[in-house]
Amino acid sequence: MAAELQATDLHKAKPEIWLNDLLSKQRKALRQAGTPDYKKRIDALKALKKGLLDHQDEWVAAVSADFGNRSAHETVLAEIFVVVSEIDDAIKHLRSWMKPTIERAVWQYAPAVTKILYQPKGVVGVIGAWNYPIQLNLGPVVGAVAAGNHVMVKPSELAPKTAALMEDIISHSFPTSYVTVCNGDVDVSAAFSSLAFDHICFTGSTRVGKIIMRNAAENLVPVTLELGGKSPAIVGTDAISKMAAARIARGKFLNAGQTCVAPDYVLVHEAMRDQLVADLRDKVAQAYGNVAENDDYTHIVCEPHYQRHKDLVADAQEKGATIISACGGESVPDDARRMFPPTLILNPTDDMRVMQEEIFGPLLPIKTYNAIDEALDYVNDHDKPLALYYFGENKKNQDYVLENTLSGGVTINDTLYHLPQPNLPFGGVGPSGMGHYHGHFGFLEFSKQKPVFIQSRLSFLDLLTPPYGRIMNTALRILVGFRSNAAKVKVANAPKMVKEKRNQ
Ligand code: NAD
Repeated sequence: MAAELQATDLHKAKPEIWLNDLLSKQRKALRQAGTPDYKKRIDALKALKKGLLDHQDEWVAAVSADFGNRSAHETVLAEIFVVVSEIDDAIKHLRSWMKPTIERAVWQYAPAVTKILYQPKGVVGVIGAWNYPIQLNLGPVVGAVAAGNHVMVKPSELAPKTAALMEDIISHSFPTSYVTVCNGDVDVSAAFSSLAFDHICFTGSTRVGKIIMRNAAENLVPVTLELGGKSPAIVGTDAISKMAAARIARGKFLNAGQTCVAPDYVLVHEAMRDQLVADLRDKVAQAYGNVAENDDYTHIVCEPHYQRHKDLVADAQEKGATIISACGGESVPDDARRMFPPTLILNPTDDMRVMQEEIFGPLLPIKTYNAIDEALDYVNDHDKPLALYYFGENKKNQDYVLENTLSGGVTINDTLYHLPQPNLPFGGVGPSGMGHYHGHFGFLEFSKQKPVFIQSRLSFLDLLTPPYGRIMNTALRILVGFRSNAAKVKVANAPKMVKEKRNQ
């Protein structure tokens, strides 16, 4: 019987009861304490920052243990720094973000006033992915807390050590009824996404994104879906090959390609391919040397993903691709440590799995084109990507690519860097996601932007009331060019008039 179970057993046996109970507690606390004021939100943001900065070594160790090996520098740069700069931006701007936007109503309603109030939606559920297990869970918490919400977080079960540390640190930084971490397996994620939250922010695959949206639909919970997909890097004929190669390699092999906005594949002009491949190999060799011995190179998070990489390469090879180790012949996969070396795949074709599914790892297919429109058609024939990268010096060519493609975000002449900008909305489009967060956009996403119309004591609108007559006719003439004799038309004649009008 559930009543006789210990709390932890109950979590495992009936996650929906445990989670619903937490949600009720958070709702009740929010109702009782009222909307968190400016000071409470600032204190929360500072507590979050302290939890990150005071425990850097533990975070680095936990993430590295989850991956088998993850560079300490990459954890601090791509996780702790990214979230801390989001927090700093929120602290800097929170007062102005919270201020209602007050404006005069448009002239037709003058002298009334309109205002937009930014109110917390309530309790926000955050479901994160494993690949940046700090950033993707605590990043949305920044926006949610800044907007005055209470938050429940469900980290991925594939980064369990980081998830456990997060639960520990957050439980010492916040009351459970304010911000809490709910750990467990996929059944916990499923129960979590079925709760009647006031908003869900999900980061993960497009496949699971559909499940989350279906579950949320049962309670009409609004969702932000931060999903994945195949993000192309297009190298134009006016690109500087060495620079493009260095920046593609940096974006691709950071975290061993396990980055949602990593360039998934390259589209390069036929005539430039060999030079680009040579430059990529030079750059990777220079960055990682003997990759097997290099702590700067991250390993693959778990056995199924590691095996998936082997299968992708075998499939491509079988179907005619040329496979090149990007850092020299000595770099081979190391099964025992789940280390998969940077690998280039030349002559990829559409029947290969590497061109059909998101790679999410250190394999880089390099496809050629003969004219830029051919490259853009290829991109536009597929799902809208989360990110798109274009390398080329000519501004007209840059604009042409920007105008003729649609993606979640774009970086020109580099990779990844549109993501950590607090002044840019981050999010996908269509199959790569919906909604945005980061900076002010996160604050807005987790707020109800409540419109308020404040009428004045004397209002012209009071005259627009039945029985309609001269004043109403004049008003409508000014507003829409209304002809007063139109009001005399009998209702019964209306369909005939519409027909006559269509035939004119
Ligand atoms: P995933 O979709 O497998 O899992 C993400 C989360 O969903 C996990 O917390 C998991 O517990 C939960 N989940 C899994 N099955 C579920 C179910 N049936 N019901 C409810 N919840 C469930 O994704 P992943 O492997 O953790 O991450 C990789 C994917 O995430 C890639 O596609 C990547 O591009 C994408 N991603 C996107 C962003 C972004 O910001 N757009 C960032 C990182 C990763």
